[in-house]
Amino acid sequence: MPTYASTSQSGSSNFDPGELSKFQALASRWWDPESEFKPLHAINPLRLGWIDALAPLTGRRIVDVGCGGGILAESMARAGAVVTGIDLADRPLKVAELHRLESGVSVQYRRIAAEDLAQAEPESFDTVTCMEMLEHVPDPASTIRACAEMAKPGGWLFFSTINRNPKAFLFAIIGAEYVLRLLPRGTHEYDKFIKPSELVGSARSAGLELVEMKGLTYNPLSQVYALHPNDVSVNYLVALRKHAP
Ligand code: SAH
Repeated sequence: MPTYASTSQSGSSNFDPGELSKFQALASRWWDPESEFKPLHAINPLRLGWIDALAPLTGRRIVDVGCGGGILAESMARAGAVVTGIDLADRPLKVAELHRLESGVSVQYRRIAAEDLAQAEPESFDTVTCMEMLEHVPDPASTIRACAEMAKPGGWLFFSTINRNPKAFLFAIIGAEYVLRLLPRGTHEYDKFIKPSELVGSARSAGLELVEMKGLTYNPLSQVYALHPNDVSVNYLVALRKHAP
């Protein structure tokens, strides 16, 4: 078996067409802050501030994996980073390109799998971000490995996803999709949720070291999202660093 196949799944197979088509269908509403993407707009300042506090954005070369319509990618570029956004769904990328024209922010968008960019441009980025994407991918460990390969030694990696336990099922699926209707039904599948131990385990195997983990909580009464120091029971974010040589 070739080395590449044994260490990293081919990017062309690590995607789920059903998952991509969900985002294709909604793409035109990506930048409408009252749309299905309202939660991403609402959490963006929180995750942006957290990333900037740990790995200041100015002048940093960043790849945003699963960038979609570019909410995080644009905001990082506006803060002074040199950003490449990659995704496998072409409509969200087209929306991202159109929005870039409107806002005058410079971001490069590419339709390429993380595994393929990792092979083409290893150790090229100071920071790798991959938010709200791993829970839509068939083999998240392969995506994490690819993200690790893209980072420079000593570089930073930021992931966010959803935990897998009964509370996460209740809040992230029943609450968000059926009761509060923050997201369309079928946005998330319980089996694809990822426990922090699984994410960090895959990251460690890929040569990454955990720096910080935060919960992301939502109060349905005040409709306020917040970063939480230790409640990672539903949504959570992790910051890691790649070992320096
Ligand atoms: N990261 C963005 C968008 C999250 S939505 C943000 O947090 O604002 C999830 C995105 O992941 C969608 O744009 C979808 O097209 C993308 N995605 C899903 N599976 C993917 C895969 N296998 N490879 C690349 N992108 C994928």
